[in-house]
Amino acid sequence: MQKMKANVFKGTNKFSIEEVDRPRAKAGEAVIRVTLTTICGTDLHIVRGEYPVIPGLIIGHEPVGVIDELGDGVTGYEIGDRVLVGAITPCGQCRACLSGQLSQCGHGEGYEAIGGWRFGNTINGSQAEYLLVPNAQANLAKIPDELSDEQVVLLADIASTGFSGAESGGVRLGDSVVIFAQGPIGLCATAGAKLMGASLIIGVEADENRRAMAQRMGADVTLDYREVDVVAEVKKLTGGGVDVAIEALGIQQTFESCLRCLRPGGTLSSLGVYSGKLQVPYDAFAAGLGDYRIATTLCPGGKERMRRLMSVVQAGRVDLTPLLTHTVPLEKIDDGYRIFGERLDGVLKVAVKP
Ligand SMILES: [Zn+2]
Ligand SMILES: [Zn+2]
Repeated sequence: MQKMKANVFKGTNKFSIEEVDRPRAKAGEAVIRVTLTTICGTDLHIVRGEYPVIPGLIIGHEPVGVIDELGDGVTGYEIGDRVLVGAITPCGQCRACLSGQLSQCGHGEGYEAIGGWRFGNTINGSQAEYLLVPNAQANLAKIPDELSDEQVVLLADIASTGFSGAESGGVRLGDSVVIFAQGPIGLCATAGAKLMGASLIIGVEADENRRAMAQRMGADVTLDYREVDVVAEVKKLTGGGVDVAIEALGIQQTFESCLRCLRPGGTLSSLGVYSGKLQVPYDAFAAGLGDYRIATTLCPGGKERMRRLMSVVQAGRVDLTPLLTHTVPLEKIDDGYRIFGERLDGVLKVAVKP
């Protein structure tokens, strides 16, 4: 059995680069040689024991690579093709997939909540030299020659997720949008609001570097919640409340502030991953009579989503490379986790090169 290096989750606060068996492609699968991947905020939750995965699993879910092996039945691809694979790998054939709910894929059957997220969650992930791609026909998206790995790697997860905040919120031309938190996903939500045609984009963030990046990604105004009453300020700027509020952190306080920033009939578009109990105070919700909508979205995936997002980058509508602030080789991935986890050195996203 050929071996490869991979970042293996060993239990809370334990992970290490190990020699493991290189995967082989069975029917319908593919193996890619990973050329670039990342460390995601979700990976931090995993290594800290805040999101449960089985010890022994390889972490990571934002892969760019080159096709190394194709299983039987996968057609239209060649060994050596450069591909982007989404963090979400739908089967393409279940009721959920065929109904357009690819992220809630039921793997050949009905629906399963979060079922589309498999890499680094229920199957081995991308922080490795090679990656087994399930349902390859539905998930290998060829990368146009003129796009670099760095230009597309963030499309696998955070950009797809961030943009979807604006899409699920139904942002329309001329809308006002507030985005709570300007971490990598919030920054992509800001870019998404701009792509969707919002005319006033307000980014809420305490970190000065992130506020500066928010402006670069399309925010017209940034607010530091430590210095201003954000809800009052948003109401003042918008004459009564935003059309769409995007939650990109996953805590009670920002969820509630999103509700309070909305005009009646507005949409709260939630991207955060919550734990514990989420509450909707009656006064933030017009006692249930304010015609509000709350939408939640898991990162959209599958090869058509990846193709669309690559076309957005290729057309020059958005440039995500400024978010890739650090790059580490796979062997030094612990440095990447430390920099990212402790938010050192103005880090936004850490790229990993196997
Ligand atoms: Zn992620
Ligand atoms: Zn499916």
